[in-house]
Amino acid sequence: MKRFWLLAITLICLLPLSASAQRNVRFKDYFNNATLRIDYLRIGCMKHDTCILQRFAIQNDIWAGSTTQLMDPIDNGDYRLLVVDSKSRTELYSRCYNTLFGEYCFTIAGHDKDSVATFEEVMLMPLPKVPVEICLQKRDKNNQFVTTTTYHYNPTDNRLEKLRPRVKPLALHNNGDPHTRIDIVIVAEGYGKQDQRKMREDFDKFTSYLLGEEPFKSRADQFNLWGIGFLANESGVTDPNANRYVSSAVGSTYNIFNMDRYLMTTHLFQLHNLLAGCPYDHILIMANCDTYGGGAIYNYYAFSAVQEMSRFILPHELGHSIGGLADEYVEDDPNYNRRYENIEPTEPNITSLKDFQSKWQYLVPQGTPIPTTAPKGPMTNRDCGPVGAYEGAGYLAKGCYRPCPHCMMRDYAYFCPVCMKRMNEIFDLYTK
Ligand SMILES: [Zn+2]
Ligand SMILES: [Zn+2]
Repeated sequence: MKRFWLLAITLICLLPLSASAQRNVRFKDYFNNATLRIDYLRIGCMKHDTCILQRFAIQNDIWAGSTTQLMDPIDNGDYRLLVVDSKSRTELYSRCYNTLFGEYCFTIAGHDKDSVATFEEVMLMPLPKVPVEICLQKRDKNNQFVTTTTYHYNPTDNRLEKLRPRVKPLALHNNGDPHTRIDIVIVAEGYGKQDQRKMREDFDKFTSYLLGEEPFKSRADQFNLWGIGFLANESGVTDPNANRYVSSAVGSTYNIFNMDRYLMTTHLFQLHNLLAGCPYDHILIMANCDTYGGGAIYNYYAFSAVQEMSRFILPHELGHSIGGLADEYVEDDPNYNRRYENIEPTEPNITSLKDFQSKWQYLVPQGTPIPTTAPKGPMTNRDCGPVGAYEGAGYLAKGCYRPCPHCMMRDYAYFCPVCMKRMNEIFDLYTK
């Protein structure tokens, strides 16, 4: 009994202490107003992977992120960066994210233990003033983050290269202090020397598409949009299906992982090199090509081709890259295979109904049957329809459910209430 009380007192003392230790982290005690860039390679397949450090460098003289929201409160993504003070063990900074490597693992090649692939990854964080441990984490089979790789950074030992800006950023929509704004850099990709004028027009087009759709529209004064334009020798991007190979600014290509309209780049170091000196929280790549295509990964980057559907592709892809939202449509692609048989997906807008309470159950009107049957007939006026749990989401026809019959993440309707709420929560992390 005595032992029990001793344990209870210890726990009561410890719990509030560790919580307040995080709350009391003041940015200026631990960080400089500058951006540390960490380049590493992730090598492996679905079963195992390992990360190999390439370099630390200073990406920017300022830190574009928040100086008050240092720990990521949103439990999303399959990976997390966690920064710990080496001396006191206080957790100083964290961000969840996803990777192109993670997507690869859900392809046929990624499932094969003999088919090992290498991907470049880049993490940005505020530049530490004190020695820190930089932990790269990944979810285990119970969905908990565990550290797989640790890098030690010591400001007195690590000499840092300060990366020089390659291109001057164009202010497309400027609302001041990056610390309290959502800074998106739009990178022009696939523009040749003769395309300078079109590039400027496309920057304006993308700016109006982005700020024309809710929830971006009503918070337009909280965004900074920057344009980075780099003119290559030729126009367009690589499309192996059309037998077209182009040496473009960030080396992007259609048909990534054998999926025709998956337009991405694997050249992360080259991409971030072009952005040195520009304050950015998120990257949107604007590709000068008229074939339908795009793609995006949470806290990684978003891609959209400039074509007639861009008005819709663009907010959809930012739903992935900024909001960490899942696709709500069904797709039977034999190259891609993701299942949620025994777990609840981490994305906020899909559920396997294993733990519906942790998702949007509280938004479902009383008396709504779960699963819910979608009303018949086509979508009208981009209306998402009533909240319930509709089967068919996350590429799966069975066993995965979405909040509404329609959504930006399914068929370019307006963002449904669940997706809208998450986007606004994330915007708050940058602005409050
Ligand atoms: Zn999508
Ligand atoms: Zn949705």
